Formats: sequence, C-alpha cells, structure tokens
Amino acid sequence: MAEAETTARESMDYDVVIVGGGPAGLAAAIRLKQLDMEISVCVLEKGSEIGAHILSGAVIDPRALSELIPDWKDKGAPLDTEVRDDRFCFFGKSTALTIPHILFPPLMSNRGNYIVSLSNLCKWLGQQAEGLGVEIYPGFPAHDLIIENNVVKGVITGDLGVAKDGHRKDSYTPGMELRGKYTLFAEGARGSLSKVLGAKFGLQEGRQPQKFGIGLKELWELPARQHKKGLVLHGMGWPLDNETGGGLFMYHWGDNLCSIGFVVHLNYKNPWLDPFNEFQRAKTHPAIAKILKDGKRIGYGARAITEGGAQSVPQLSFPGGALIGCAAGFVNLPRIKGSHNAMKTGMLAAEAAAAALKAGRANDTLSDYDLAYAKSWVARDLWLVRNAKPLWSRLGTLLALPFIGLDLWTNQLFGLSLFGTLGHGEPDFASLRPAKGSPKIAYPRPDGHLTFDRLSSLFLSGTNHEEDQPVHLVLRDPAIPISVNLPEYAEPAQRYCPAGVYEVVEEASGPRFQINAQNCVHCKTCDIKDPSQNIIWITPEGGGGPNYANM
Ligand SMILES: Cc1cc2nc3c(=O)[nH]c(=O)nc-3n(C[C@H](O)[C@H](O)[C@H](O)COP(=O)(O)OP(=O)(O)OC[C@H]3O[C@@H](n4cnc5c(N)ncnc54)[C@H](O)[C@@H]3O)c2cc1C
Ligand code: SF4
Repeated sequence: MAEAETTARESMDYDVVIVGGGPAGLAAAIRLKQLDMEISVCVLEKGSEIGAHILSGAVIDPRALSELIPDWKDKGAPLDTEVRDDRFCFFGKSTALTIPHILFPPLMSNRGNYIVSLSNLCKWLGQQAEGLGVEIYPGFPAHDLIIENNVVKGVITGDLGVAKDGHRKDSYTPGMELRGKYTLFAEGARGSLSKVLGAKFGLQEGRQPQKFGIGLKELWELPARQHKKGLVLHGMGWPLDNETGGGLFMYHWGDNLCSIGFVVHLNYKNPWLDPFNEFQRAKTHPAIAKILKDGKRIGYGARAITEGGAQSVPQLSFPGGALIGCAAGFVNLPRIKGSHNAMKTGMLAAEAAAAALKAGRANDTLSDYDLAYAKSWVARDLWLVRNAKPLWSRLGTLLALPFIGLDLWTNQLFGLSLFGTLGHGEPDFASLRPAKGSPKIAYPRPDGHLTFDRLSSLFLSGTNHEEDQPVHLVLRDPAIPISVNLPEYAEPAQRYCPAGVYEVVEEASGPRFQINAQNCVHCKTCDIKDPSQNIIWITPEGGGGPNYANM
C-alpha cells in the first residue's frame, strides 16, 4: 500500500471489478451483463490466458451452468463426455474392493454430470463473457487492495519490470488502479488478497477454520483398448495410511484422454509424507497401472482444494466487495465438486451487485448476497455433507467410511445428522507432529514410464516465470526454515511442494534454505501448510506460472 502512494499510476473505473477468471469470476461477469448490459465489468486474471491456471478434476454438475446459460449445448460448451460408469474402490496394496453404489445416497450420484477440462470450460466462459462486453485482462494479477476509510475501492495490478533486488528495470511499468463500485474476489482456494480481506474484516470470526487438500493431477493419453469414455473411478485407502485423508480420481474423457489425480488432505500429521510421491505410488496399484500401461503422460499440475464445507464458509460480503467461489470455499468434499457452487455463488453475488447498482448504491456491504447464499441450493449442497470431513479427520479412513455413509443417508432422507454439526478443530498448519518419532517413508524411485520425478513433471505444466523479479514466496522471517522447521519437522516444504520450489542445500557453512520460485505452479500449499505460517504467497509478475492445457 505504501508504494501505491509514491508511484503515479493510471486508474480506470468500473461498476464491478472481478479478481480471477475462473468459474466463479466468469459466471459473475456473465450474470452482471445478462442483468444489465450497461454495467461495466472487468475481469483480472493472473494467468497468461483464461484457463492457464485452472486445474481441476473435473466431473462437473452442470446445474449452475444450465441456470446461467440454458442453451450451453447449442452454444458449443465443451461438455462432450457424459458420465456413463461410476465406480468407487477401496484399495489395499494389491487389492481393490469395489463398493456398490447402492450403498451411497442419491446425492453422491454422478448421473447427468460431465467429465470436462475445467480449464477449457473457463476459456469458453471467457468467450461468452467477452461476447457480452466484459473486459478481460489476462496476465494482470491483482497484487494489492485499494482500501479507503475501511472500504474496498478496487485493486492495483502488479508492477512489471522490477528486478530481483527491487530496482526498476528499463522495462518498468507501474501497475494500474482498477476502481470498482464493487469488487468481487474470485481467486479460488487460498486467494492472496482474499486472505488479507478475511483478516482485515474478521470474515472467519465465529466460523470453523477453512480446511484444504492438495490435489495433484496428470493428463494421460491411453491406448484405445484401455480407454472407457465416460468412466469415473474414485479410490481410497492405499497408499495413504489410515490417519491420512485423501484419495485417487480417474476420469476417462474426450479422445482417449484420462485425467488421473490424487488428493491429500492437508491436515496430514507425518512431516515425512510427500504428496507428490504418494500420487506416484498410487499409480503403481495393479488396478490403476494396467489402465495406464503403454499410455503417455501429457500434462501435470497441482492446486489446493478447499475442504472445510458449510462450517467454514466465511462472512461473504464486506464494505465494497465480496468473496465468491473457492476464495470463500464451497467444495462439496464427498462429491469432490466445487465448480457448480463456485459458479452459482458468482451469480448470486452478481445479482446482489446489480440490484445495488440499480438502486444507486456503491461501495457498501452486499449483505443480500450472504442472505441469498444461505437460502440457495449451494448452502443445502454443503449442509447435507457437513460432517464428512470432521468424521474423516477424527476417525481415520476405515472407521470414517461407514459413519460418513450413514450420515449422508440420514441427511438425505430425513434432513438430519446423528452428529449434529461437528467442528474441524485446528487449522491445517498445526497438524504436523515432530519429525523425530514420526515414521520415515521410503518412496520407490520413478521408473520414467508410470512414475516420474518432480522436475520432469513440472516440464509438462508449462510453468514459466520471468527470472529477474522479486521472489513471490515471501518469508516473514528468513531464519525460520533452518532454525525452526528443519530441526522440528525436517523442513516439510521440501516434500509438500509439488514443484520442487523449496530445497535445503547442505553447504560447508551449514544448511541453507533455497527457493526456486520460477518453478511455482501457484497451488498455494506452502501458504497453507507451513507449520510456522512463515511463507506468504503473493502474486508474481503477470502471466507467470503454469500454462495448463486441457487440465
Ligand atoms: C485436483 C482437484 C480436483 C477437483 N475436481 C473437481 C471436480 O471433479 N468437479 C468439481 O466440480 N470441482 C472439482 N474441484 C474443485 C474446483 O476446481 C473448484 O471448486 C473451482 O475451480 C473453483 O472455482 P473458482 O473460480 O472459485 O477458483 P479457481 O478455479 O481456482 O479460479 C481462480 C482464478 O483466479 C485467478 N487468480 C487468483 N488470484 C488472482 C489474483 N490475485 N489476480 C488475478 N487472478 C487471480 C487464478 O489464476 C484462477 O484462474 C477440484 C479441485 C482440484 C484442485
Ligand atoms: S511454492 Fe508453494 S504455491 Fe508454489 S508450487 Fe510450491 S507449494 Fe505450491
């Protein structure tokens, strides 16, 4: 903020400024224009293009899309693969127990859902938004907030052309002020500005802490004989131990494409655990390896996913703006679906903003959006499954599964839970045990066919950052990784980062913490899981980061 006062910046005014061109931000933009073409709307996106930073499963429930654009089929939305076969397995090391779907309540059904690339869907939504006159600026991260008299008045985009040591290069261009009567934050899980807003306006007060997982994903091309278009497979159990939540997903779609991914809940306890290598191990299960055999891996990426559900939804609006989508956290964990809720909350916020603008209001609190959320199908979607995550965290996978099943059934049939509403307890950064006394995990070496190392994986994410720029992973105290995290937790950043950004390098003078910021895929895991809460993820220079295709 201080720099904003000393740097002359261009300024542009809009009715609504939207930060983030994911499903939430784009749905909000489209809805605003549908309601009133005169409303001026801009969308800022830090990726080099819309979709470049979008990583998801994704099996999507088209409910919100159908409400937003009822004729999406005629308009060519990229939803080509309908779910035809839906399987759920519990894995032992070499066994796979199929759990019959009859045991799951209807809310878990994938009937009528589609397997998509969410990145491609966002590209299409971006085109629809532009067709309506929304101004979209890819490559422009919202870096700072404009807050005047405790009211959010917009955002400032990141400066370009600042060198690693902070001096301004010849190419220096100051970021712009984008001022809005309302600013909607659609940054997705652990948004860098949304986090600041949460603290400033006390948005999480009286709510449970937000919970997260890290989701790693690969895209494969399969031999035609192993491809079953429309197959959705979810698995739990091996290789994760009983106290670590998470599981595998595999979706067959498009022309012999297979999206395979692995989620590890970030309240894991063993600091030796390495989510990337758990994913690599999971692919060696015989039931999975036989499907991937002779296939070709063509994509890789990772992204945090919100898991807190109903209990963790913050206050959504504050003076001058609101949080929408996973910046607030609307993922239905047992369904592993959040994109429909992200879109719907974007639409609800847009409706509240459009009504306020029509009434001549500006920069006040959109409380009607909070009320609309509470009455919406999103709130019900999350309410029915609210105990799944807490039960899993408390009981461990094996015992939790039957209890979660029972709880989902009673919620669906009678609208009640035997458990009331359980809390989540501590935030994810507080769950690690000391390394000393925690079992070390020996991960097999990658074979280069089915399993891979981090750097060859990273190559497939298309990640690229201008090298001569300030490091966007800021340490509050540069000494902590070596003085606290290393002796206490064997510096877990070396293992939880899916892109090999953090290394502890042994030198003659002792260990040194190295940050390879140019590798960062913007998953936000370090910001969430660092046990000392010492790493702050801020936006790097515009356009930097992954360049996902078909993810
Ligand atoms: C591995 C994985 C699997 C999943 N599987 C499914 C599934 O099968 N089905 C489903 O429905 N959901 C699934 N989800 C959840 C779903 O992806 C999210 O709920 C959804 O993407 C949230 O949409 P969003 O618009 O809120 O945020 P995001 O999709 O995260 O989009 C946020 C956008 O904002 C941009 N941005 C962030 N900060 C800034 C900034 N400061 N300035 C400018 N731009 C910014 C980002 O680059 C990004 O493009 C999955 C998630 C993961 C991680
Ligand atoms: S540095 Fe942080 S945000 Fe970047 S890839 Fe690693 S864990 Fe994710």
